[in-house]
Amino acid sequence: SPIPDYLAEVLGASAGTGEGAVADYIPELAKADPDRFGVTISTIDGVLYSAGDADVEFSIQSISKPFVYALALADRGLDGVLAKVGVEPSGDAFNELSLEPGTGRPRNPMINAGAIATHSLAGAPGLDAAERLERVVAGLSAFAGRRLEVDEQVCASELETAHRNLALAHILRSYDILEEDPTQVVAGYTRQCSLLVSTRDLAVMAATLANGGRQPITGEQIVPPRVARQVLSVMTTCGMYDAAGDWVTTVGIPAKSGVAGGLIGALPGQVGVATFSPRLDAHGNSVRGVHLFGRMSDDMGLHLMDVP
Ligand code: GLN
Repeated sequence: SPIPDYLAEVLGASAGTGEGAVADYIPELAKADPDRFGVTISTIDGVLYSAGDADVEFSIQSISKPFVYALALADRGLDGVLAKVGVEPSGDAFNELSLEPGTGRPRNPMINAGAIATHSLAGAPGLDAAERLERVVAGLSAFAGRRLEVDEQVCASELETAHRNLALAHILRSYDILEEDPTQVVAGYTRQCSLLVSTRDLAVMAATLANGGRQPITGEQIVPPRVARQVLSVMTTCGMYDAAGDWVTTVGIPAKSGVAGGLIGALPGQVGVATFSPRLDAHGNSVRGVHLFGRMSDDMGLHLMDVP
């Protein structure tokens, strides 16, 4: 079939890019093999095409953020979430404070401050931290179509060094954006980020967003279409942090990156795509992943603003 051959070819063409560095602010992530490289495309009918290290598992990290945002929107409604987290690109790095003056709302749910607040909004109001974490793990697993497990080493390593996220969470608590113990929220958020996935999982998760919230393989409606639209919109403007403008002009696909090296793109009504390569650029986005997405967008005419 031509598609796997094509994927193998573009993988080879992007593999030469040896730039970037594996994240090391989470000590366990520094142990990743920098040469791993995989890609999976999932159609919205659930047909998967892969090349390279498509089955290698890595921690989802910030790619969890759009999916937990989706769960929070489904559980609390748009207004309930907007009251706590905005939708404006921050133009700052993922770990900056980036709060709206006056209200203290994090600018958007894709930066750490916004994602920590969003984690606290998953599930019905009044859940305890363990129940809410289960809502998050079960919800992300429903997107993937299989039960996802936590990488305990990555989770412990991040928690031991989570000073910055704890600081962000305490500031959010001071503005009543968080209404509970900030330490517990960061603990739950960190477990969320430590869930293990492969590019196969991520491509199907992205395809679910591209498919109006319906999981292409299980057929389950995970979140309503209006929620999927909201999430894809925010991915378009904020998913690549302070590289969002460069990304949207060159690649033109709603996307989200994670510091373990994963990268997803979701093209409404068409496909979900995921890549994995741990070396990151200065924004925390996978160097070879960005390169491969650029090539695929050009070759396949995937840019949102391309006239079909
Ligand atoms: N867990 C990571 C953090 O909070 C996620 C960051 C990322 O993937 N960009 O720092």
